[in-house]
Amino acid sequence: VTDDHLRVLAGDCTVVFEGEERREERGRVVTLVKPDGTVMVHGAAGYRPVAWLTRAAAVSCSRGDPPRVLAQDDGRSLRVRGHEATLSRHPVSRAGPTVGACPDCDGALVRAGGAVACLDCDREHGVPEDAAVRETTCPDCGLPTMAVERGVAVEVCVDRACDPLVEALRERVGGEWACPACSGDLELVQQGRLLAGCEHYPDCETAYTLPRGTRTGECDCGLPRFETAGGERCLDARCDAVEG
Ligand SMILES: [Zn+2]
Ligand SMILES: [Zn+2]
Ligand SMILES: [Zn+2]
Ligand SMILES: [Zn+2]
Repeated sequence: VTDDHLRVLAGDCTVVFEGEERREERGRVVTLVKPDGTVMVHGAAGYRPVAWLTRAAAVSCSRGDPPRVLAQDDGRSLRVRGHEATLSRHPVSRAGPTVGACPDCDGALVRAGGAVACLDCDREHGVPEDAAVRETTCPDCGLPTMAVERGVAVEVCVDRACDPLVEALRERVGGEWACPACSGDLELVQQGRLLAGCEHYPDCETAYTLPRGTRTGECDCGLPRFETAGGERCLDARCDAVEG
């Protein structure tokens, strides 16, 4: 999950910012150069940098004597020239809550940027944004498990190759709900998104998108109802519109 290196120029420096106006300042400062081109010069006080450029188009750092940082973007530039200063580099990554230990290298697994990723190796698994990553580990591979609600609640390994989410949902949904049009069973199908569709397709074309939520009970129409972030609803989204 290492997203490359952060460069740090620290010491007595002259900072020149040129944009709509020109500012030149000197002090003992720390300049941070992030992998995405963001440059921030920090002095002694507060969180606000002395000068900065966010995601600059061009950034160069030179180790020369004196060391320098030059960032340019859209007619603005930020130059930092060291007098008594050192330039160093440090590996950095995204940061997020710890969710377990990597089964390959024992590094910390964190949840960040839509994935569960190891801080020390390449292991990374995308997880749905609404998934709750658990402390329980997968008995097959040692990764954490995640709880996902798509009409039914399932708990699967965060590695979908190890424990496919679709299969787990299919086992739970299959035979659980009856088609209101022909009284066949609804089963789980993946057509880009996850649908609960009639087993008699194509003779019966009844199909519903699986809501992100769990079942609360039965609707007057015979289909299940769900608690979702947007409120309680019938599996058939049109059902509530008709009732109301
Ligand atoms: Zn690892
Ligand atoms: Zn697993
Ligand atoms: Zn049907
Ligand atoms: Zn209904």
